[in-house]
Amino acid sequence: MSGEPQADCLFCRIVAREIPATVVRETETTLAFRDINPQAPTHVLVVPKAHYPHAAALADADPALAGTLLAEAGRVAEEEKVAESAGGAGYRLIFNTGAGAGQTVFHAHVHVLGGGDGLREKLV
Ligand code: 5GP
Ligand code: ZN
Repeated sequence: MSGEPQADCLFCRIVAREIPATVVRETETTLAFRDINPQAPTHVLVVPKAHYPHAAALADADPALAGTLLAEAGRVAEEEKVAESAGGAGYRLIFNTGAGAGQTVFHAHVHVLGGGDGLREKLV
C-alpha cells in the first residue's frame, strides 16, 4: 500500500533505526541525516518516514508531507548555517528522480548541499 515501509528499502531501514545514521533533525513524519558519502561540507538527506519511490510520487500521494519535507530541508539549512538567513552562502536542494538521473535509493529524499565553494558552479 502507498506509504507503507518496504523491507528491502535502505531509507525505510534507517527510519526504523535498523541501520545507523547520523540524524540531525526528526519530526513525526520526516527524518534528516548526514549522507554517508558527502559531496559538500554540508550534505544532509531529508526523507519522509513513509515510503514513496521518489519526490513526485510523494507529492502526488501526500502534498502536505511533501511541503513538510521542503520546510524541513530549509530548517536543516538554517541549523547547518548554510542558509543566507543564517549567515551562510546559500544551499542547493536536489531530488534525483530515476536511475538515469542518478537516483540510487528509491525512497523519496531531498539532498541539502551547502558550504565550501563547490556550489558556485551552476547546474541549470
Ligand atoms: P540518490 O543517489 O538516490 O539521489 O541519493 C542516495 C544517497 O544516499 C547518496 O548520496 C548516498 O551517498 C546515500 N547513501 C547510500 N547509502 C547510505 C547509507 O547507508 N547511509 C547514509 N547516511 N547515506 C547513504
Ligand atoms: Zn523506503
